[in-house]
Amino acid sequence: MKIQDANGELFKQASKRLDELAKLPAHNADKDLMQELESRGFSRRDFMKWSGMMTATLALPASFAPLTAKAAEVANRLPVVWLHMAECTGCSESLLRSDAPSIDSLIFDYISLEYHETVMAAAGWQAEQNLHHAIEKYAGEYILMVEGGIPKGSSEFYLTIGGHARTGAEEARIAAKNAKAIFAIGTCSSFGGIQAAHPNPTNAVPLSEITSRNVINVPGCPPSEKNIVGNVLHYILFGSLPTLDAYNRPTWAYGLRIHDLCERRGRFDAGQFVEHFGDENAQKGYCLYKVGCKGPYTFNNCSKLRFNQHTSWPIQAGHGCIGCSEPHFWDTMNPFEEPIGNKLYATSFNGLGADKTADTIGAVVLGATAIGIAAHAIISSTQNAK
Ligand code: SF4
Ligand code: SF4
Repeated sequence: MKIQDANGELFKQASKRLDELAKLPAHNADKDLMQELESRGFSRRDFMKWSGMMTATLALPASFAPLTAKAAEVANRLPVVWLHMAECTGCSESLLRSDAPSIDSLIFDYISLEYHETVMAAAGWQAEQNLHHAIEKYAGEYILMVEGGIPKGSSEFYLTIGGHARTGAEEARIAAKNAKAIFAIGTCSSFGGIQAAHPNPTNAVPLSEITSRNVINVPGCPPSEKNIVGNVLHYILFGSLPTLDAYNRPTWAYGLRIHDLCERRGRFDAGQFVEHFGDENAQKGYCLYKVGCKGPYTFNNCSKLRFNQHTSWPIQAGHGCIGCSEPHFWDTMNPFEEPIGNKLYATSFNGLGADKTADTIGAVVLGATAIGIAAHAIISSTQNAK
């Protein structure tokens, strides 16, 4: 099938799905998305601009922008249950807390959030009741989003929640059972995160080790708000899982390395490096590899999306990437302000060694990253073929 035909068919399917969703009762019928946005100073034009940008982020043709807008408008038809496990709540906070809310955070507010401990009014027994009520009422329909690592096995008791003192693992298993789709939000839920870092005293594991259901990982410490909202929109548009890489990360968000789209990449290729933080080369915006940047080993779209309403991102601010969207990065990517050197690590490179010394970086890192691209392509295509 030609690409245009494939897109045409996809467009028709998504339109039909959105029309059907629009007929369903809204879970917060008192809210109108455009009114909510306008009350915060966003015009229809801002919203359409945002829809165009989200469409490009989701790697869809520009013609899908009106559908992305409609997907946001019907987002209140889709019940969402968001659980907190062992975590700092940074993923929620990064999305919800801002003195000038973005369109992403307002859309997240508009989504039918049936349960989210950080933003709901209920507490204690009532909160627990609300959770189980939502899970029963919307069985088979709700999207489950889980933030945080989860103590497992004989260590499950390290995380107990609510009046019945159920373990986090128990709550996650119950909620996962009848969910329509399941997302692990943040690196802790996707890969265990800092809770699972050596020596992992609570035997924390990712959500995918707690449930046998398929889990889509949205890692990052924290993940960008667009990667969280984008996954919800993708699900509303297509009702199916996006293409995933070997670590179950959506390839539209995690298909490229930080290094591939970095604004300092030209400096790397030219062998121009910051030698010490604050030196003359730092002022000139040279590459941060020698002061520990892990961008060559990290798959994420931060350089495209940035943070704080697209203001900046770590490398633009002058610190290297620490590899926060890779499995076990706390153990494998440190020391964070030095190159990895000869260290063997088990992230996307499956135990391949990195460069030998910073001085031979040009040849060796370019070789290692080329291997990385190939390794990622192979594992991604293997995964996609499943
Ligand atoms: S090593 Fe880091 S700072 Fe340098 S080009 Fe790659 S991602 Fe950018
Ligand atoms: S630049 Fe690297 S460490 Fe920073 S948020 Fe992006 S993936 Fe995480």
